[in-house]
Amino acid sequence: MTNSNKEKVVLVGAGPGDIGLLTLNGKHWLQKADVVLYDHLVNPDMIRFTQKSTEIIYVGKKEGVASMAQEKINSLLISKAREGKTVVRLKGGDPFVFGRGGEEIQAVQAAGIAFIIVPGVTSVTGVAAYAGIPLTHRDLSSTFSVITGSNEKNQGDIHIDWEKIAARAGTLVFLMGARKLPLIVEKLMSFGKSPDTPIAVVQWGTTARQKTWIGTLGTIVEISAKDKILPPALTIIGEVVNLKPVVEWYEHLPLFGKTVVVTRKGDQAESMIDRLRELGAEPFFFPVIETIAPDDWSPLDNALNNLSQYHGLIFTSVNGVRFFAERLKTIDQDIRELKGLRVFTIGPKTAEAVRDLGIRVDVVPENFVAESLISSIGKENIEGKQFLLPRAAVAREILPEQLREMGAIVDVVSAYQTVLPAPQVDELSKRLEAGSIDVITFTSSSTVKNFLALAGDKLLPAIQKVKIACIGPVTKNTAQEAGLNVEIVPEQYTVSSLLDSIEAFFQPNS
Ligand code: SAH
Repeated sequence: MTNSNKEKVVLVGAGPGDIGLLTLNGKHWLQKADVVLYDHLVNPDMIRFTQKSTEIIYVGKKEGVASMAQEKINSLLISKAREGKTVVRLKGGDPFVFGRGGEEIQAVQAAGIAFIIVPGVTSVTGVAAYAGIPLTHRDLSSTFSVITGSNEKNQGDIHIDWEKIAARAGTLVFLMGARKLPLIVEKLMSFGKSPDTPIAVVQWGTTARQKTWIGTLGTIVEISAKDKILPPALTIIGEVVNLKPVVEWYEHLPLFGKTVVVTRKGDQAESMIDRLRELGAEPFFFPVIETIAPDDWSPLDNALNNLSQYHGLIFTSVNGVRFFAERLKTIDQDIRELKGLRVFTIGPKTAEAVRDLGIRVDVVPENFVAESLISSIGKENIEGKQFLLPRAAVAREILPEQLREMGAIVDVVSAYQTVLPAPQVDELSKRLEAGSIDVITFTSSSTVKNFLALAGDKLLPAIQKVKIACIGPVTKNTAQEAGLNVEIVPEQYTVSSLLDSIEAFFQPNS
């Protein structure tokens, strides 16, 4: 694809908070983005759908705090696109509902840059659904109005025609009205809405922080007085609010309100995240192990250029297969070079990765450990034969050593290395210090060690206050040795049992 095809701005609605409310199109463009500009109300966890090389720019504004000026955001969108890049502008909810999406597209269009618009689930409908309040109902409301509760251009009053708004039938939904709640209810009542009209204020809807206040126009200010309602909050006014006790569901999910840190990476992290969301928890994805290219490709390149000298190829991990195949391609070779080589793998996932490349696996040992592969290979006459073992820069030595003892020649080459990534440590610190993390899950000793190394000593006291869930006794020991109090360990050492245990921990009687 040429640069000119890539050059565009994609305006994407991220939905109100729950990552599951991002659309398939939204996810697609995040995966393709060269640059992402995102806002305060966007769930930052979505950034994990981008590529490692994607440039991520936070342009968020918190209400009351000076943000990047709109003109600056517009010019950034334009200048990044002009570099031939696909620029995703990720906004909370739907970009065309009080999102200034229109203004940004006007600027982009005026600059002659191509654009695409991906609508999002607006908080109007998304938050209402998670709060259990249908906006329309055949018996109660046949229309709803969406109204701004703020006027950025004028600090005092909200410049809307209160008389007309108060006279409207149906449900009224106010956005951006958290700080102006007393003014909104007073105006509505003074223009004739009954003080008995039901009202709900929903803060941080669709997230673990979702909180709802219910009352009437006459009582809500007093009801919510002790809790200073801060943005983002959505206000729903009308008879439909009375349906909430029947329709509410999200707040009843077993792990509702719990933020659970997921430290593992890869496919199993995704299934863990999905299951947590089903249980009503908000997963906080914080992968602590990352694989990158080795410091030096030349040992692997040498081996790849001399593949015919080998008798067999041994893969011990999916990453080994992946980096091996990618490197083969990079140096302009392909799988035909592997003709005649015996291929050995450890574990079914590794074997699957090899087969995905269209290569037959000769030997997959019965068990998933190195020792088992050695005994399988040992049945063949390997004396004097040469093997290539592409794998992580630092790994266990048992496999090559034992094969050498059996007379084989083993070339161990680095195909990749594992490193500690620098993920959203800031976001983690913020949440830990605010006490808004409930559980941290560990699925191996290395996730414990890497997590604590990333978090640093400063956060240890905050981490010690969080519930710690470990997949099994070995991981638990590591966590305890590091000073953590482990309260959740399943009887079976699997991810799904770990999640069951977390559920049981918080719902002891169910
Ligand atoms: N484009 C967005 C709205 C932007 S204005 C949309 O379609 O949802 C910001 C306002 O949206 C907030 O002040 C609040 O009223 C509302 N809002 C956004 N996310 C919300 C959430 N998770 N919970 C409650 N209100 C939310």
